Amino acid sequence: MLKSLRLRRYGRYVEKTFCYLLVLVITPCFFIFEMSVVRPIVVKTYHLGEIKHLLHVICSTFCFTNIVGNMMLCIFTQTNLKESVISEHYCELCKINRPATAWHCATCDTCVLRRDHHCFFLSRCIGLQNQRYYVLYLGYVFISLVYSTYYNYYYVLTKFDDYDLYLSAYRVINPLLRYVIPEPLGMRDLYVLFLFLNMGLVIWSGGLFWFHMRNVLRGVTAREYKSSCRVSWHSTKKNFIDVFGTRWYLAILWPFAVSPLPRHDIKLN
Ligand SMILES: [Zn+2]
Ligand SMILES: [Zn+2]
Repeated sequence: MLKSLRLRRYGRYVEKTFCYLLVLVITPCFFIFEMSVVRPIVVKTYHLGEIKHLLHVICSTFCFTNIVGNMMLCIFTQTNLKESVISEHYCELCKINRPATAWHCATCDTCVLRRDHHCFFLSRCIGLQNQRYYVLYLGYVFISLVYSTYYNYYYVLTKFDDYDLYLSAYRVINPLLRYVIPEPLGMRDLYVLFLFLNMGLVIWSGGLFWFHMRNVLRGVTAREYKSSCRVSWHSTKKNFIDVFGTRWYLAILWPFAVSPLPRHDIKLN
């Protein structure tokens, strides 16, 4: 029992450390690198006009603002059940009556309203109050990664002629080729490796976004989807508004827009 508690505590430290790294280091460094290293070279090499250049700056800043805004709001929005409700479901650990759609999270050690899942990367439970931010965060991460892959491809092209790029790509995919083709490419291999990483993250974030958006439109949480214990009979539009709120058209464009959730009764059923 003590060992499992200790393990859980270490797991929580690892999770928190990764979350801080993601918020304070990885996300801002990625944006700064793209804007200060990749952008000027692509603009100069491919002779982008001033208007195109300005449009790219606006688009990338818009995506970055939505990523950071949704990420921070997802982390800081309270999702836990604060007090007992009139319900027959009792949580032994929190010592309160919880709604049927609230579940206890062992990592957060609290009952979470309409709990979807516990996100390792953000070190938070995703539930009724922050699902909007989580899904939009994934959506904007996906869009930004597609955008940066496109940009980075042209950036990497400036470092190679065609033959070298394919050679490097083969060597990155199969490191054993390094012994067959001894010609050193060094730093440029690293650029190609990052481009592959970028492409891999596109597939990963796209898959996550697709999975969660499909659940939103079906009106089920990830937990309900896995256990098939609940099916929503509401329309797709109603399910969408249940997560993104009545002013969803603002919520999807601006993370700080107020968009009240319509199903207040969900807390009690
Ligand atoms: Zn609980
Ligand atoms: Zn949790």
